[in-house]
Amino acid sequence: KPVIIFLVGMEGSGKTTFLRQMVCYTQASNISSYVINLDPAVMNLPFGANIDIRDTIQYKDVMKQCDIRANGAILTSFNLFATKFDQVISAIQNRADQLDYVLVDTPGQIDMFTLSASGTMITEAFASNFPTVITYVADTPCLQVPTTFMNNMLYAGSILNKAQLPLVLAFNKTDVAQHQFAFQWMTDIGVFHAALASDNIYTPNLTQNLSLFLEEFSENLRAVGVSAVSGAGMVEFFEAINTSANEYLKIYRSDLDQGR
Ligand code: GDP
Ligand code: MG
Repeated sequence: KPVIIFLVGMEGSGKTTFLRQMVCYTQASNISSYVINLDPAVMNLPFGANIDIRDTIQYKDVMKQCDIRANGAILTSFNLFATKFDQVISAIQNRADQLDYVLVDTPGQIDMFTLSASGTMITEAFASNFPTVITYVADTPCLQVPTTFMNNMLYAGSILNKAQLPLVLAFNKTDVAQHQFAFQWMTDIGVFHAALASDNIYTPNLTQNLSLFLEEFSENLRAVGVSAVSGAGMVEFFEAINTSANEYLKIYRSDLDQGR
């Protein structure tokens, strides 16, 4: 206690909107949550954050002082903030008794969590102190293209591979496109191949051979359909989070205690 819900996903997949929906849901259900914004470049946050990276780091100044472009400035801001992350952990620890969930929003630069040292530092700081569940938010309408679907699964897979934590896949924007096709592609490779055959011209074998990865990957996570706008799927989402948090306690925690 508390459980950390760490949102990742591409720019525009709906992480920030989904976090807002989680805040509404937890408030309405008398669940206590603590909100952390780790996106230095967000303009308007549609929720109140208890900790906001923008209070400590001015990303526009970083951009000017370091003479770098937006993406570099986001990464640099993130690196700067990571050096003070022990303060974030103690802020949570001080309130741990009163908190059920800590909701964390992040920028869309996914390589920050798969490749950069500070991304790893941050996820490890959470995971070594609290049950931590990664939530990969995906833009369901975009996933209807089989290669885009596969690319998103590869992204999510690389995060899973790096973080070694339980992962919940949130198929967002189900108010625009239902997610059943994605469930079907994950569980029945034949159906995915059929969709691919009609679409993929240049690298059909690559995507087809990646299906082995897809099958294995699907067995290692929980997937739910949600809508950050309408609030559909929130109950199922929190069920998936709780199951994953128990998994963390059973598997990941005992690994840590054995000094993995
Ligand atoms: P982020 O970059 O991942 O934080 O994405 P945002 O939360 O900023 O959302 C990007 C865009 O998608 C915004 O225009 C949102 O209004 C829209 N959006 C997010 N979630 C949903 C959803 O569930 N349904 C619909 N229809 N639009 C959504
Ligand atoms: Mg955002």
